[in-house]
Amino acid sequence: MKKSVSILLIMAMASVFPLFAQDLSSSLPTPNAAVGYLMAIGFLTPVPEQVMTEINTVENVAALEKLSSKTKNFFTDGKLNTVFKMLIQGAECKECRFGYERTYRADDPVAPFRRLRELARTARVYGLMQLKDGKPDKAFETFKAIFCMGKHVEFDGTLIAGMIGIALKNISLSGFKELVNLSKDKKIVEDACQFLKSQPSATLSAAKYLESEKKYIATALNMIKEDSKKESDEDLRNSYENVVFILPLNMQKNVVSSETNTASPVKSCSANQRVLMGAVEMLCMDYNPMPATLTLSIIPEFLVSSKYLKNFPECPEKGKYEITKTNESAYEWHCTIHPEPGVTSEPASDTSVYPSKSQIEEFKKFINSTEFDKMTAEALGMFDEAKKFDPYAADYTAKIDAFQKKIETSTNTIIKNAIPNFKKMFESQVKQDESIKKLISR
Ligand SMILES: [Zn+2]
Repeated sequence: MKKSVSILLIMAMASVFPLFAQDLSSSLPTPNAAVGYLMAIGFLTPVPEQVMTEINTVENVAALEKLSSKTKNFFTDGKLNTVFKMLIQGAECKECRFGYERTYRADDPVAPFRRLRELARTARVYGLMQLKDGKPDKAFETFKAIFCMGKHVEFDGTLIAGMIGIALKNISLSGFKELVNLSKDKKIVEDACQFLKSQPSATLSAAKYLESEKKYIATALNMIKEDSKKESDEDLRNSYENVVFILPLNMQKNVVSSETNTASPVKSCSANQRVLMGAVEMLCMDYNPMPATLTLSIIPEFLVSSKYLKNFPECPEKGKYEITKTNESAYEWHCTIHPEPGVTSEPASDTSVYPSKSQIEEFKKFINSTEFDKMTAEALGMFDEAKKFDPYAADYTAKIDAFQKKIETSTNTIIKNAIPNFKKMFESQVKQDESIKKLISR
């Protein structure tokens, strides 16, 4: 009697909540690869620094010999099986999206790039171990999953996601290289080559993420416009410091520098620190692992000389920006006199309000002018122009150089400040295509 009641209850629940019934089945109703990756990261216990340092240097089977017993023990932890299972299951999904909806706004959720990279490198070592242990089929599965994660991240939206996706794929390719060169299992080697052969070339994806990047910029510019039409100035005021750079240079002179002393120094220092963090993050993507010669003392200069920064920002109150290493793959910036971005809120009752009423008015006038619309259209057109580049065309180098020059010398402040460096993107794509070609042509 009791039993039938509970069965009835379950049936009733199932009809009221169809999801409840579905939960009993073996897979999720709408598989999203990101869920798998986020779960994998969740199950990946924080990797001890020494272990991560070692993991970062291992790119081939021979290097496994050098691992310390601490790192070897880390890989025998039973929980890692769950991590890689989640990674593989995620990688099998067709779709991948971090966040519930894509609005192409600056506040869209961003994939946890650093943790994903940690996951990829840890999985690579795991795959190399599988290869060494005579399980090439398992190693193939692992490297394939890293590659697919890279592909998913590549299309997550922004140009930066694209670059990180390429970096993740590169992590998997060094594993593939070992598999192809060392495995005596001809069938697996053939399957691995077939898999790589079936991948679209990296350069083909350029147009897709240029389009996303364009959407992001268009949305951002449109949001400024919407803010400027609101009755309250509050939103415009809050974003002012991040967007004031789009004013034409002659207007920036009036609006920015004549009143810099009334600007909020903590806020503009925070903005500087954010710019620095973004630049060093880009650097970490390109140099993986960071060359030992790139020491903390030369990173600041290197960021400028290698064009990660247009120029090194200056603290509005003459503080100094110092970089520290928190672990092998992470850096932090500090200002010697100001807090980190987002740590402290500012005193609300500041008598010298920045931006002032007249600054806001002038900004609004510009945003609603036809000049702004023209500048916007011109800037967005640059993305369309970049989409047409073929890095394999004979005249590519001349074309891209002319394009970069056009950006650098543009009087359109939106172009000058908001169009990223596409040259680097094309370069890393071509490099990846070439290394895959080399791998499968042996
Ligand atoms: Zn400062």
